[in-house]
Amino acid sequence: MSVGNDIETGSETGSGTAVGTAGETSIGAGIARPGEPGYEAATSVFNLAAPPEPVAAVVVRTVEDIRAAIRFADRERLSLRVHTTGHASPAGRPMGDALLVRTEMDGKVEIDPAGRVARIPAGTGWGVVARAAAEHGLAVAHGSSPNVGVVGYLLGGGLSFYGRKTGLAGNGVTAIELVTADGELRRVDASSDPELFWALRGGGGGFGIVTAVEVGLFPVAQVVTGAACWPAAHAPRLLRIWRRWTLDAPWEAATSVRILNLPAIPEVPPMLSAGPILCVDGAVLAETADDVTTAQRYADELLGPLRSVAEPVMDTWQLTAPMSVLDTHMDPSDPVAVIGDHMLLGELGEEGIDELLRVLGEGSESPLIAAGLRQLGGAYAVADPRGGALDHLDARYAYSGGGVPDLSGTAEAITRHIATVRAALAPWDTGRTTPTFVETFAQPQGHLSADRIAAVDRVRERVDPRGRFRDDIMASATALR
Ligand SMILES: Cc1cc2nc3c(=O)[nH]c(=O)nc-3n(C[C@H](O)[C@H](O)[C@H](O)COP(=O)(O)OP(=O)(O)OC[C@H]3O[C@@H](n4cnc5c(N)ncnc54)[C@H](O)[C@@H]3O)c2cc1C
Repeated sequence: MSVGNDIETGSETGSGTAVGTAGETSIGAGIARPGEPGYEAATSVFNLAAPPEPVAAVVVRTVEDIRAAIRFADRERLSLRVHTTGHASPAGRPMGDALLVRTEMDGKVEIDPAGRVARIPAGTGWGVVARAAAEHGLAVAHGSSPNVGVVGYLLGGGLSFYGRKTGLAGNGVTAIELVTADGELRRVDASSDPELFWALRGGGGGFGIVTAVEVGLFPVAQVVTGAACWPAAHAPRLLRIWRRWTLDAPWEAATSVRILNLPAIPEVPPMLSAGPILCVDGAVLAETADDVTTAQRYADELLGPLRSVAEPVMDTWQLTAPMSVLDTHMDPSDPVAVIGDHMLLGELGEEGIDELLRVLGEGSESPLIAAGLRQLGGAYAVADPRGGALDHLDARYAYSGGGVPDLSGTAEAITRHIATVRAALAPWDTGRTTPTFVETFAQPQGHLSADRIAAVDRVRERVDPRGRFRDDIMASATALR
């Protein structure tokens, strides 16, 4: 079966990032300079904190469009940069002399229910894929937002609420199609070019322009999913209960805990904007109908003790269909400017929880609109033999936190508080990061060991000897610069 590949906008019918190449540009082939038709669409990003300002930009829909873009960049001596939705725009190197290529490839999501594989054109958001898979009783290791682009997420590892059972989402990729700097369209998998297939997944980018990916699907009968939120006054007891539960939680369950400082705006329910709030959200997976009772018991073992601390001001946890997991984290669907930070943390213990509360809890005056921990462990911690350069995460929690200038504080106050949190959590900082959670180009990063960086660089030198995509590599993912 097939479905359209519009990026989800959060509405059922929307295709709000529809982009076009209509109108005349001075360069042709839809390639536009600032002020020309098509430039704005090709440079639009979800995270408005770092709007890209390349010399020229283009939306590509076909392999021929991509080849024309590469020829243009060669002729004009521009470096090549790639994006899809711009969810990660602040994580990229600042754009100097670049042609920015936005991938909105023609084609449909194709599901092979027997082989349990989806083929997904670049430009597709996770909501479209999850819906297509659900029609066959299958699920995919998508992230928390339906709007995040499949390609950037999978190349960067990808943390899913299914991930404690399935591992990093990039481990489930079975093939990648890309156009390399020489204009060649390659389909790489574990047998056709194992080194490139390995380096593409978690290697930090800079190999070419991905046109499609194939990723494995898995059966899910039902999930217990939702979010429960309390005034942050209860955070000390709630966080301690949650942390103890994470120590030996079942792999079927994955959660996050966040302290939210939400503004009183129409999009936010009033009970969530009345002051700092602590929310525990996530999902417990039931693969078959026989697993549903166990999944409910697992959820009760977490939620029962939390609910007994105080009545939540909001509690949406329920047994439901897998598609609901895409609503659980309450991610924004419209573009927004977020200044954030990320670290992978070791086991916090009681002392770490105290520090977290000191800098983020009630009385901290934190200007971060959302800050907290994603639970890792389970299959995340196991090196997957099918995996790529990043095949597991050696940490207990993924910290991320960020503020929205003018909504949760000034940019200066947010930046200052990010440094305060980083200093407070330093004793538990592993020094490692996971690519999809990296918030800015300048933040400390460490996805790979030195050996793996060297091995990934060798692949880059083979497929991009002239370094046309070198500026598209994440900070700290290469020794070539
Ligand atoms: C609201 C929100 C929720 C999120 N939830 C999660 C989550 O649950 N789990 C998680 O792991 N991450 C999550 N993320 C992070 C997200 O996965 C990353 O930002 C990811 O990089 C987004 O991919 P993208 O293609 O949409 O973004 P883009 O910013 O368009 O791309 C990011 C990078 O991916 C590469 N890339 C993109 N398209 C191509 C292509 N066609 N060819 C080659 N390279 C390409 C480029 O290097 C680009 O710089 C979330 C982010 C936001 C803002």
